[in-house]
Amino acid sequence: MQRRTFVKNAGVVLLAPSVLASCGTDESDFKNKSVLVVGAGISGLAAAKKLKDKVFTVTVLEAQDRVGGRLRSNRSLGIAFDEGASWIHGVDGNPITSLAQDAGMTTFHTDDESIIAYDLGGTAVGDSEFANTEDAFYDVLESLMSHGAPNKSFETVFLEQYPQHANNRLWRFFLSTYLTFDTGDLDKLSSQLYNEGEVFGGLEKIATNGYDTIPQYLAQGLNVLLNQRVSKVDYSGEKVKITHNGTISEADYVIVTVPLGVLKNSSIQFSPALPAAKQTAIEKVGMSCVNKFLLTWDTAFWADEQYLVYTPETKDKFNYFVNVKKFHPSANALMTFAYADEGRQTELMSDTQVIDQIMAHLRDMYGNNIPNPTAMLRTKWASNENTFGAYSFTAVGTEMRHFEDLAQEVDNKLFFAGEHTEVDYFSTAHGAYLSGLREADKIVDLQ
Ligand SMILES: Cc1cc2nc3c(=O)[nH]c(=O)nc-3n(C[C@H](O)[C@H](O)[C@H](O)COP(=O)(O)OP(=O)(O)OC[C@H]3O[C@@H](n4cnc5c(N)ncnc54)[C@H](O)[C@@H]3O)c2cc1C
Repeated sequence: MQRRTFVKNAGVVLLAPSVLASCGTDESDFKNKSVLVVGAGISGLAAAKKLKDKVFTVTVLEAQDRVGGRLRSNRSLGIAFDEGASWIHGVDGNPITSLAQDAGMTTFHTDDESIIAYDLGGTAVGDSEFANTEDAFYDVLESLMSHGAPNKSFETVFLEQYPQHANNRLWRFFLSTYLTFDTGDLDKLSSQLYNEGEVFGGLEKIATNGYDTIPQYLAQGLNVLLNQRVSKVDYSGEKVKITHNGTISEADYVIVTVPLGVLKNSSIQFSPALPAAKQTAIEKVGMSCVNKFLLTWDTAFWADEQYLVYTPETKDKFNYFVNVKKFHPSANALMTFAYADEGRQTELMSDTQVIDQIMAHLRDMYGNNIPNPTAMLRTKWASNENTFGAYSFTAVGTEMRHFEDLAQEVDNKLFFAGEHTEVDYFSTAHGAYLSGLREADKIVDLQ
């Protein structure tokens, strides 16, 4: 795949010698400087921890009753169901790898080759047909952007260039789970920038004891105020004033780490209004939806592979199953997904409707005698007021500089972090983490 070769600011941040050491500033000078961080996701906590370590006075304001944001683990069924991020995407060089070790997050290598696919009627898709279509799909991803245009979506160009694949169910699966899942709605995805973003090499590893282990570790020793919903950020004066739950707090610096969906929704009023370039970027960068569903049974009836694929007529819904039993042998559980608009639509469905649709797919794969699940957990990321979506993507109209505009500080006192501000690693946990370190370093640099 063609990937961007942009030299990563984030890498420089990680490798750069200490600013303090190079300029000889006394860390105790920072004691009088205060920082308010809005949001206790991984980006906000990374920034807060780094600044606290440099002896700034740091307070984190978090709207929810827990830290972690989109790193959120539900243990109510006895295993950790990660409602947001599950995987460390490529462990080599990925900052989450060592962070996970420090935090005590356990992981399991999910083998992409351990996969079985079923067509309608439970007919197995042959290994060679699956592999050949996968190769052809990646070839299309390589070449489609040469036909792309600024005002055309991926779907439009795909249908123009490859109409022969439009109604092929296996193709539809790859488009859905190998592209829509990682990006966003194909009718909104940029036909030129769909393949942007750097990736780390190495194994894909899934968290087994809960991804929230990491934010809990980062939050140790930090002053995090929970249940504090920020409604206004006033940066018109020398200090920045923040309104949260009717209280006004002020600081020398503020780092806003709320998700792009929250910025799009104008949930926080900025005074003065944010610069035009940032407002444009907020509008132009896309916010996708992915919802996740964990289902449990008394016994497993499915194949002993890591991934189960199904190729229904419908798209983007319940077509991909992670066999949770592979890494939790005592749990008879499958995790499945709904992406993009289909994902949003599931939020309007009752639990019974969701289970009926998932079971219709599983019964086509494994026969009518399989039982209904004993329990289900599900997410509703699009309607969640703390995110309004899952993660950012390059929509039609997005330009890569928009990610930099989202990261741009204002008046050297208002800073922005979060996955949507990371031009190379947007939409990921590592991107969010690196963005927090980046903004902390900017504030240290100002001293
Ligand atoms: C379904 C799903 C699957 C994913 N899978 C993966 C994966 O496998 N691997 C991977 O690397 N990444 C994955 N991601 C992406 C990853 O989870 C995110 O990029 C990352 O967690 C974002 O961190 P953040 O700090 O930018 O934002 P968040 O974690 O969203 O933190 C922002 C915080 O701001 C708070 N907030 C919002 N509004 C206010 C307000 N008004 N006042 C105060 N606080 C507020 C929120 O409650 C939240 O705690 C996934 C995400 C989702 C949703």
